[in-house]
Amino acid sequence: MPHDHHDETDASHPHALLPSEPALRVKALETILVDKGLVDPAALDAIIDYYEHEIGPHIGAGLIARAWVDPDFRKDLLRDADALIDSLGHGGRQGEHVVVVENTPETHNMVVCTLCSCYPWPLLGIPPAWYKSDAYRSRAVREPRAVLAEFGVSLPADTRIRVWDSTAEIRYLVLPMRPDGTDGMSETELAALVTRDSMIGTGLITTGLITTGLITMAGES
Ligand code: FE
Repeated sequence: MPHDHHDETDASHPHALLPSEPALRVKALETILVDKGLVDPAALDAIIDYYEHEIGPHIGAGLIARAWVDPDFRKDLLRDADALIDSLGHGGRQGEHVVVVENTPETHNMVVCTLCSCYPWPLLGIPPAWYKSDAYRSRAVREPRAVLAEFGVSLPADTRIRVWDSTAEIRYLVLPMRPDGTDGMSETELAALVTRDSMIGTGLITTGLITTGLITMAGES
């Protein structure tokens, strides 16, 4: 990973200039900006509060559940997620261009940002710490199956795993498979099944008895 090195060859790369203590640098930068009157601390607090409390995986889960019950919505979500997300008022920073990728029995999708931590904030909230870790960012592409196993996800050997590398231009959201045995469930009940990790591709959706992807293979969890 070039971003992990701080040698001369990487000096020109912006990611090599990340400080060793980002939180400290951020605090220092914030202090300067506030002192100069360039940012309003109350506005910063409001933005942080918004992403911590208003925005979260429930937004993405709502889209997934609706896609499961409404074939036209699913088609639109897969074809042009941006237009759909905008029309529902879920657009915003860190979600400028979202592409939805659909899990099938043949293909499991998994999302990473190998460069840093690009993530569809307006749909999933603030990314988890592991998503930003060096280990996940490098290993997700190198050995996705092993990484999935560590998340408790074991897929049939013939399931293809596609790893999508997010960038500042494109954020990916996984459309997980609807679990079997959920035919009678309402959209709201379905949305409650959809986890954050299932929309990153590092989790499968369980209904208690059945895990999609495993197709109820005995002895697996
Ligand atoms: Fe990134």
